[in-house]
Amino acid sequence: MAEPYKIKMVEPIAVTTREHREKALKKAGYNTFLLDSQDVYIDLLTDSGTNAMSDNQWAGLMLGDEAYAGSRNFEHLQKAVRELYGFKHVVPTHQGRGAENILSQIMIKPGDYVPGNMYFTTTRAHQELNGAIFRDIIIDEAHDSQSEHPFKGNIDLEKLRALIDEVGAERIPYICLAVTVNLAGGQPVALNNIKAVYQLAREHKIKIMMDATRCVENACFIKQREKGYEEKTIKEIVREMFSFADGCTMSGKKDGLVNIGGFLALNDDDLYQKATSLVVVYEGMPSYGGMTGRDMEALARGMYESMDYNFITHRLAQIEYLGDKLDAAGIPIVKPVGGHAIFLDAREFYPQIPQDEFPAQMLAAQLYLQSGVRSMERGIVSAGRDQRGNHYYPKLELVRLTIPRRVYTYAHLDVVANAVIDLYKTRDQVKGLRFVYEPPVLRFFTARFEPLP
Ligand SMILES: *Cc1c(COP(=O)(O)O)cnc(C)c1O
Repeated sequence: MAEPYKIKMVEPIAVTTREHREKALKKAGYNTFLLDSQDVYIDLLTDSGTNAMSDNQWAGLMLGDEAYAGSRNFEHLQKAVRELYGFKHVVPTHQGRGAENILSQIMIKPGDYVPGNMYFTTTRAHQELNGAIFRDIIIDEAHDSQSEHPFKGNIDLEKLRALIDEVGAERIPYICLAVTVNLAGGQPVALNNIKAVYQLAREHKIKIMMDATRCVENACFIKQREKGYEEKTIKEIVREMFSFADGCTMSGKKDGLVNIGGFLALNDDDLYQKATSLVVVYEGMPSYGGMTGRDMEALARGMYESMDYNFITHRLAQIEYLGDKLDAAGIPIVKPVGGHAIFLDAREFYPQIPQDEFPAQMLAAQLYLQSGVRSMERGIVSAGRDQRGNHYYPKLELVRLTIPRRVYTYAHLDVVANAVIDLYKTRDQVKGLRFVYEPPVLRFFTARFEPLP
């Protein structure tokens, strides 16, 4: 499917030589997070806040009502959330984690359990900061890079039931249900699974709070893969998904099609009251939270645009296109491809490099060197160390190629695919890395490496 938009404004990107990239990579300590944007040709580090806004959104920026209270742009955002997601109340926040902070504080008591379909880094951090114990209740297939289950984000109802039996429903304030599941590779949740989780939760008076960050991608997968939803619109499917939730946290930087912003949405009046008393401490007035009027306008407009069938089908088609190209060339990738990225399996790419010599980190470095394409390590470096100081050895040792929304064309994806395929041909000559500097926490952001001799 060709791009369902045309280009009105362009941003030149750096076309660099291998010699230039060698210097840049050394300067960055073989860590793609430390590369300067101006040294990167195609930037697939993340799809967070890297979206291209439309002319309609840019026009909306000029209509920002920057009143301290009661901005009309807040009304527009509220209308979008009510109409598209179906929740009654909305509290704007500076981004997704701002909403996670408030939700966790108003709902969690120390010693509570919060089950989720895998975890997201910031979501779990806020739950734990408020004294909750996180439990992963995703289906086993999600942890298997070779399973082709169409809904690898689904919750395992038996795991949920077992947790309720073990700790009691009164110690589970809510189930955190992410649609799609980022860390499983952008894998979707089926509507029949959402319904079944809702029924079980209602029987036990447990609330469901969704992570709505990637809800449009999830809806498109439902339309493509779940029986009975082929003829429904994306808007209808999104509404139905959220009809089984009590609220959601949202990062506008993903499916909201903006560069910054987010919100907490709730149905319950009491919870909303509590949220408004906290948002003034951490973000700002309940009618702007962490956002400017113009940013709320851009987000409201982005939410409507994200429901467009052509937009979201093209987005998923781009990811599938890159996945198919790599797969056809025999490159080991995680399957089925998810909603926002392709994951290369670095263990199979460089079987000669032991995991503690950082095969995925090296693969990301080599890909940059080869082509100027920036990707991200998601393996042992990202996993960090345990309390005794030993590396965690995650099952999956991956490199993530994340596709920003409406930014790159198929020709760019061809460059990416060809670079990976070229690297694969010379893979047996490559050795691993060792640390030159290792920070104590979240080491992947700022660690520095050098190649082993
Ligand atoms: C990005 C993301 C978040 C956090 O949102 P921020 O805007 O980065 O704070 C939460 N959940 C998921 C699934 C995400 O992808």
